[in-house]
Amino acid sequence: MSAYRCPVCEFVYDESAGVPREGFPAGTPWDAVPEDWPCPDCGVREKSDFEEYIR
Ligand SMILES: [Zn+2]
Repeated sequence: MSAYRCPVCEFVYDESAGVPREGFPAGTPWDAVPEDWPCPDCGVREKSDFEEYIR
């Protein structure tokens, strides 16, 4: 699965982990996250600003 990182605060959305506190259980694909979902850590950037994160 893929992961995506916020360019501001480096919060990482990992599809295999999801973000349960935001209502996205583990295994939620990035495609299922709304386009206007704001970063839960900084609240400044939205999904469209995230970059694919290569581990
Ligand atoms: Zn952020």
